[in-house]
Amino acid sequence: MSLQAIVIKVLVWFDNSNVKIADNVGEAIDWMRVIPFILMHLVCLLVFVVGFSPVALWVALGSYLVRMFAITAFYHRYFSHKAFKTSRVCQFIFALLGATATQRGPIWWASHHRRHHLYSDTAKDIHSPRQGFLWSHIGWFLCLKNFTTQGHCVRDLLKYPELVLLDRFDSIVPIFYALSMLFLGQYLEFAFPELKTNGSQMLVWGYFVSTIVLIHCTLFVNSLAHVLGTRRYETGDDSRNNLFIALFALGEGWHNNHHHYPVSARQGFFWWEIDISYYLLRLMSLFGIIWDLKPVPANRLHSKLVKQGLQ
Ligand SMILES: [Zn+2]
Ligand SMILES: [Zn+2]
Repeated sequence: MSLQAIVIKVLVWFDNSNVKIADNVGEAIDWMRVIPFILMHLVCLLVFVVGFSPVALWVALGSYLVRMFAITAFYHRYFSHKAFKTSRVCQFIFALLGATATQRGPIWWASHHRRHHLYSDTAKDIHSPRQGFLWSHIGWFLCLKNFTTQGHCVRDLLKYPELVLLDRFDSIVPIFYALSMLFLGQYLEFAFPELKTNGSQMLVWGYFVSTIVLIHCTLFVNSLAHVLGTRRYETGDDSRNNLFIALFALGEGWHNNHHHYPVSARQGFFWWEIDISYYLLRLMSLFGIIWDLKPVPANRLHSKLVKQGLQ
């Protein structure tokens, strides 16, 4: 590889507009492109160097929960499915919060997710476990083929230049988020030395460990939630309802419900199906931050059941 080619590959880490992809590109992994993703996993091993403190673990947990909510409620239910409405300013704030999760920009995320719903578990599905569990979990986004945004799926989002910009420079927000963790740790070390934390410890736990766990827990909705769990609805795909995934992914484990009626703001269709993202969205609607949360129509709740009676 020439020096110029390497420079272009590195620039792509920061500016997606430099990407040129041939129509016939295959499903081989673009190793140069995914170096940062691999490095993020390796940096997590630094927990054995920086140690831990209760405050660093609490911040890591909080960082996980806030950003999981941003992914499920905003990237998924809002940008991908338009399950509720909000103002343009709040839309941008939601996009920024989602971008801290380091799962690329909202338009890229929504474009691939919408395609998943169009072709769930068929040959055209970009991340069906029928093509291999590992492929459905990480393989699909590590290959060059799925690096670009499927523009025809997201014309409604492409009309917002601020979102297009976020997508183009999708590593900027995560970098600032990581730096904020570093500065938080440095501040706590200075102001509250009794907490026994520091900048590097907070960076490793609050950003790297939290982000890697967050990424894989999100990806389990694509992989595990099409393999493990129960099916209430005949959806024509392999989607499953799974309480365990619903708990750690804040409601996204009710994936068979979701494939049955994707535009609903809630994925736990019944009171016993815990859906923390939906509870928080309801709270936000009480304050007028969002509105017009789409419900599940009563006739859809009991239609196309796998067998008579609720499972
Ligand atoms: Zn699915
Ligand atoms: Zn969806």
